[in-house]
Amino acid sequence: MKVLVPVKRVLDYNVKPRVKADGTGVDLANVKMSMNPFDEIAIEEAVRLKEKGAATEVVVVTIGVAKAETDVLLTARAMGADRGILIQTDDEIEPLAVAKLLAKVAEEEQPGLIILGKQAIDDDSNQTGQMLAALLGWPQGTFASKVELGGNGVQVTREVDGGLETVDLKLPAIVTTDLRLNEPRYATLPNIMKAKSKPVAKKTVADYGVDATPRLKTLKVVEPAKRSAGIKVGSVDELVEKLKGLGVAK
Ligand code: AMP
Repeated sequence: MKVLVPVKRVLDYNVKPRVKADGTGVDLANVKMSMNPFDEIAIEEAVRLKEKGAATEVVVVTIGVAKAETDVLLTARAMGADRGILIQTDDEIEPLAVAKLLAKVAEEEQPGLIILGKQAIDDDSNQTGQMLAALLGWPQGTFASKVELGGNGVQVTREVDGGLETVDLKLPAIVTTDLRLNEPRYATLPNIMKAKSKPVAKKTVADYGVDATPRLKTLKVVEPAKRSAGIKVGSVDELVEKLKGLGVAK
């Protein structure tokens, strides 16, 4: 069984985002970009399935700038993905268009399982996996903290409010990863060197005949309100007095 893993190139989670002076978005010039952390978890899960003999091939796909070939797609291949697909575009692609493109890739590649991140940390959309499942008409197990293949299906334990829910899905299926699913391995330097010889197919949005025109208009992006500096108190009594002054304690 083939596993397809879509990964997004996003602002590295350690970088403090800077809003562009004209308020049109986050400034991505000269800042470190990395694989979306939930997508690293997705690659790790797919590679573990391959190592267990449950999957035969792991294919990674990204929709984004050309540079993705030598960073996120290389990292994914160094972690164990067998080959990559780059759908190159400099435009910002919304989740619906991403889902439509991924549906086309799925038609071509015929994976048994598609593992996505539950959300991309730049836009926090949490939409692509669900939309992809709807477009393909496949079952979905979102926010997965455990994935077990067996028979003709996959059992997914989901992190829901107040506990865990376990669902049985028939394959082919969509899974989206939550934080506790696994701890992704590092892409080591030797593996990065070896990964350079694993193939990447280069495509464009037009190759798939998908209309990726944005449907949403960003009106304004602003920095979060600055927090005012706190104060240090000398004792618990002083703290209680201050809280009384604020009407918080009696
Ligand atoms: P989102 O719905 O934007 O929060 O993204 C959820 C997941 O969809 C991500 O974790 C990725 O697995 C996938 N995804 C989103 N955007 C892209 C993209 N441009 N290229 C490939 N995969 C993507």
